Amino acid sequence: AQVYLDRIEQNKDLNAFLDVRPEVTLEQARQADKRIANATAGRLTGIPIAHKDLFVTKQWATTAASKMLEGYMSPFDATVVENLDRAGMVCLGKLNCDEFAMGSGNENSAFGNVLNPWNKDCVPGGSSGGSSSCVAASLAPVATGTDTGGSIREPAVFTGVTGLKPTYGRPSRYGVIAFASSLDTPGLLARSAEDCAWVLNEMIEFDPKDSTCVDLPKEDFTRCLGMSMDGVKIGVPRKWFAEGLDEELAASIEEAIQTYEKMGAKIVDIELPTVDLGVPVYYVVACAEASSNLSRYDGVRYGYRAKHYSDIQDMIKRSRSEALGPEPQRRIMIGTYVLSHGYYDAYYIKAQRVRRLIANELNGVCKEVDAIISPAATGPAYHFGEKSNPVQAYLSDLYTIPVSLAGLPGIGMPCGIHSSGLPLGFQLVSARFNEAKLLGIAHRYQ
Ligand code: GLN
Repeated sequence: AQVYLDRIEQNKDLNAFLDVRPEVTLEQARQADKRIANATAGRLTGIPIAHKDLFVTKQWATTAASKMLEGYMSPFDATVVENLDRAGMVCLGKLNCDEFAMGSGNENSAFGNVLNPWNKDCVPGGSSGGSSSCVAASLAPVATGTDTGGSIREPAVFTGVTGLKPTYGRPSRYGVIAFASSLDTPGLLARSAEDCAWVLNEMIEFDPKDSTCVDLPKEDFTRCLGMSMDGVKIGVPRKWFAEGLDEELAASIEEAIQTYEKMGAKIVDIELPTVDLGVPVYYVVACAEASSNLSRYDGVRYGYRAKHYSDIQDMIKRSRSEALGPEPQRRIMIGTYVLSHGYYDAYYIKAQRVRRLIANELNGVCKEVDAIISPAATGPAYHFGEKSNPVQAYLSDLYTIPVSLAGLPGIGMPCGIHSSGLPLGFQLVSARFNEAKLLGIAHRYQ
C-alpha cells in the first residue's frame, strides 16, 4: 500500500484522487497483513483498490465531485465498498469524476479536470475519469466506477485499461450517490478482464437494501476464463462501423474481429435498427431521474448551504445555484421540463416506450449471439475543451448508451495504439447476467 501511496503523491498532477488518508489506508493494510499471517485471508486480501467518489465511505469524504457535498462524511459505507472491505482489499482513497457522474470527459468536476496519463492534454474519459486515469498510471491495480450511459466503458478505452459494467441490478446501488436510478450500475476498471472477474466475485452479492438488486445465487465470474472460442458467435453491428468512426479505430477493431475469427469464433453481421434513438431517449430518461434524485440537495438536510438568504425559498434557491455546477443544473432543467404537466406524455412516456423497443431489440440479438463487438467511442481520447458544446458531448456516447438503456453487461477494453500515441479500444456486450462468459470472451483476446 505504501508503494501505491507514494505513487499517488508523485502523480498528483493527474488530479485522479480527491481524498487520500495514508493513516487509514496503512491501518487497513496492517489488518490485511494480520489476516495473511493467521491464515484467514481471502484471495483479494491486501490488494489495494480505490473508489470513485460516488460510493459513500465512512473513512473518506464523499463529494460526487460536487461543491454541494464538499467535505461530506457519510455515516455508512456503500454495500460495494463494504463487500470489498470485507474481502480484505485495502482502500487507497477516493477518485475524482464528473460532478454527479454527468459527463464523458471528466471536465465537469467541481475539483478540476483529471488528466489522461497517456497525454496530459487529453481527457481520461468520464465520468469515471479518476478511476481510468489512476489504473492506467498504476496508482491502483483496480478501481470502482459507475456506468449510467458509458462512464466505465468509455474511460477504459480512452486510457487503455479494461472496464466492466455488469448487468443493471447485479451489483448493489446502496450507498452509490444517485444520478439516474434505472441506469446507474457500479462496476470495475482494472488492467485485465481477469482482474475484473476476481474482484467482481467479491463485489457482487444480493443486497436487500437495494430494491432493484436481483436475488441470484453467488457466482464464480472467473469460471469462463480460458474458455474455447470454437463456435462462439460474435455479432458485428456493421452500421456502427460505417460513418462517424475514426478510421484507425475502425481498422483496429476489424483486426480484433479477425483475431476472434482465427480463434474459432463465428462472426455474424447484426442489425440494430432502433439503437440510433438511444441518445435522445437517454437524455430524457436520465435527466428526468436526475432532476428527481438531485432534489434532495436543498441546503437543509446535508451539503452546502448559502451564507446569505432572506427566507427558506431563497435559501434553497441560492444553495442550489451556488453549489451545483452547470451540467447538473442543465440536466435538472431538462428533467424538470420533460416531467412537467403537459410535456410528460410527449417526452417522458414516449422515451420510456422507445427505451423498451431498444431493449427488446438488443435482448433479441443477444439471444442469437454470445457477444456483440462494437466501438465504445468514436475515436481515441479527445483534447480538453474539444467537446465543450454539451450536445456534441452527448452525441459521442452513441455506442454505449443503448447498452445501458437495455441494462446489459458490457466491457470496454484496449486493442491498439492510435498514430497520435493514444490507446484504442472496443466494447463487448452480452445478454443480461452473462458476465462470466463476457469476461471469458474478453480474456481470450487479452
Ligand atoms: N456521458 C454520459 C452522461 O453524461 C454517461 C455518464 C455516465 O455513465 N455516468 O450522462
